[in-house]
Amino acid sequence: MKNDRPTIFALSSGRPPAAIAVVRICGPATRLALEHLIGRIPQPRHAALVRVRVPASGEIIDEALALWFPGPRSETGEDMAELQLHGSHAVVTAVLGALGAIEGCRLAEPGEFTLRAFENGRLGLTEVEGLADLIAAETPAQRRQAFRQLKGLIGDQAEAWRRQIVKAVALVEAGIDFSDEADIPEDLVGPALYAAQQLRSIIAATLADSRRGERLREGLVVTIAGPPNAGKSTLLNRLARREAAIVSPYPGTTRDVIEVHLDLDGYPVTLLDTAGIRDSDDPVEQEGVRRALQRATEADLVLWVIDASASGVAAAEGQENTVKSVTWMVKNKADLLVDKLWINCESPSDAMERTFWISATTGAGMVKLLDALAAYARSYFSAVETSLVTRLRHREALEQTVAALDRALAQPVSRSEELIAEELRSAATTLGRLTGRVDVEDILDVIFRDFCIGK
Ligand code: GDP
Repeated sequence: MKNDRPTIFALSSGRPPAAIAVVRICGPATRLALEHLIGRIPQPRHAALVRVRVPASGEIIDEALALWFPGPRSETGEDMAELQLHGSHAVVTAVLGALGAIEGCRLAEPGEFTLRAFENGRLGLTEVEGLADLIAAETPAQRRQAFRQLKGLIGDQAEAWRRQIVKAVALVEAGIDFSDEADIPEDLVGPALYAAQQLRSIIAATLADSRRGERLREGLVVTIAGPPNAGKSTLLNRLARREAAIVSPYPGTTRDVIEVHLDLDGYPVTLLDTAGIRDSDDPVEQEGVRRALQRATEADLVLWVIDASASGVAAAEGQENTVKSVTWMVKNKADLLVDKLWINCESPSDAMERTFWISATTGAGMVKLLDALAAYARSYFSAVETSLVTRLRHREALEQTVAALDRALAQPVSRSEELIAEELRSAATTLGRLTGRVDVEDILDVIFRDFCIGK
């Protein structure tokens, strides 16, 4: 542990005013900071009732609970303390101000506590990502996946695979060293290649998960698309139960893509309202249309909304061909139809293309549509709970590992021990990149950018 580095502090709990505010301190001057602010060092890992004072004047700021976690057995591996204060602006500002006045102390950057935990070997890179996901989790399924990752699900696995590859490399290298002696190389390279082959299939099987782990992180994407004025924004508002999109009687007001996150039966669904898809001369609107179509194409499910009461419906349905995902037809404004026969319309629930009759304004037919969406999300994510890969970064690293193993396996055994060793080493490196053992500097910024201050 370095002693010359700054001691950092931050408000780690939510924005004041709140019942309680938690201020965390981490670094070599933590002990000094406690002495200055509360006049003593509490018993390690036991809550102590203390008075927090302005060091310069001795004025009492608050009565609080103080916790002292001496390093290296702390969350970050360094000396840490936590003050649980009354959560007002005035108390928090006074305490942060008093801490800032202590030599060697400064406000923490976003994610800096976690960065220290990582630097001190208390957390691996994939665990850091799991922690970020746990903080961002919106649904129970996301929370469970993040927690598994925080507890090392993919990190430990990747590290175990890396060790096996390193062992295989050692075998091949031993073969190279003994290459003067007849027969020995193949005896060593053979088992190494066998191990590489086994690993290759295991990793490839891990990758064949239809990206469901990543989807669970980001949410199943459902796009609401269709001609202008069909009632897409009205439907989105109803689904989201709040005023998320502007509803207007004039076509083309939803210029951009509006995003709403839903928790359906514990699974995350990201609803996108696309700009009223139509031809336009306005470049801004054209851009909106381009983006809308792009996202609609990438969606897992498209709700194609049409105005069931309007004439020219057939022409609108033709646009459906621009969309490649599973599409459900949503016939809206059913309340305007004189013929109420639609009420009993039901499409088979296992069909890829289903039709729903709804009225976004009266809410008729909405229960059926929501139930169908929830069932779709449930079945989509049902296999996900065992998925290892939760980010594109992981996927790419594993794909590169498989590619390197393939190259190693493609070498003619008798003549290319050096090439085999090199490809195996490259496979070990990509796994090391996944867990943060190698080339970590390149990815730290990206990973810690998502963190909030105080974590
Ligand atoms: P968008 O352009 O597809 O997003 O359509 P909007 O949601 O802005 O709705 C266009 C117009 O249709 C608005 O005046 C809505 O109030 C109206 N509207 C939407 N859904 C229904 C419905 O189910 N029944 C009736 N009668 N009007 C609707």
